[in-house]
Amino acid sequence: MTTNRIDSCPICNGKHLIHKLSLTDSISNKTFDILQCSDCGLHITQHAPRMQEMSEFYPDSQSAIYKPAQSSCDKWLDHMLSGWYKEQVKIVREESERHSGVLFEMGCKEGYFANAIRNNGWIAHAVEHDPTAREYGNKRFMLQVEDSRRLFDINARSYNVVVAWDTLGEAVDMHRTIEKLSQLIVKDGTLIIAFHNAACNDSKHYASSWSGWNTPRKRWHLTPQAFEKLVEPHNLEIVNLRHSTHRATITATTSMWQACGQKSIASTLWHNLKRVLTTHNDDTYYIYTLKHKQ
Ligand SMILES: [Zn+2]
Repeated sequence: MTTNRIDSCPICNGKHLIHKLSLTDSISNKTFDILQCSDCGLHITQHAPRMQEMSEFYPDSQSAIYKPAQSSCDKWLDHMLSGWYKEQVKIVREESERHSGVLFEMGCKEGYFANAIRNNGWIAHAVEHDPTAREYGNKRFMLQVEDSRRLFDINARSYNVVVAWDTLGEAVDMHRTIEKLSQLIVKDGTLIIAFHNAACNDSKHYASSWSGWNTPRKRWHLTPQAFEKLVEPHNLEIVNLRHSTHRATITATTSMWQACGQKSIASTLWHNLKRVLTTHNDDTYYIYTLKHKQ
């Protein structure tokens, strides 16, 4: 396998990269190191595969994510995820101050959000790296998801809203990608970029079991400080920042399942109750709204 060795931070060019942890990917069974840039806070997957060799790191069509939920834990997860898709639609409406329009999603996975926003009166276009997820979305929801390599062929100023739900970290070149995403929105358009905060309390608590890493599919693991530095040269203004407790709960629970190596509905419900009672400021999931600088 040919991999990318990273010696300097792509955001601040700093060379102070510290080993933070090692984790084993549950799909490929391969181990990867996560480094942390001590200058800007970006976390980096060392030796991530090249894009053309990423196929062995995606779940295959026989994976549980492509099958109907059987266990009560999987049904609970399905229920939480459908709530999250509704919340995403609400976020798009509120942040763009529009009830309809043309939206582009970078990295739509199996197409659940693209389908939800389309069912709410929007026209949705999307790209996705993973060919199995792409085919699933196209078949199940009659979407027309294209290969992510098409991103750079799309005409500028084509969309009212562009969203990237925790997928900017999958891009090989984040600066080139954020510049392209900013070009895709119309003059008064809205760019929504969300990510799991690599420096959150749960990433420390669950360490290598934290499902927010999603390594090696995610090459870069953002923090608020690193993201704000990344955005600086791109003529974009951060106009709002919000969090999602819903999304954070899903990530915490799947991390707990990973850490325990098993799932039980009683421990899932207890874990969530405890979380509601003890977590006051959830710093897991950041959702930034950006507009062109006027
Ligand atoms: Zn850095």
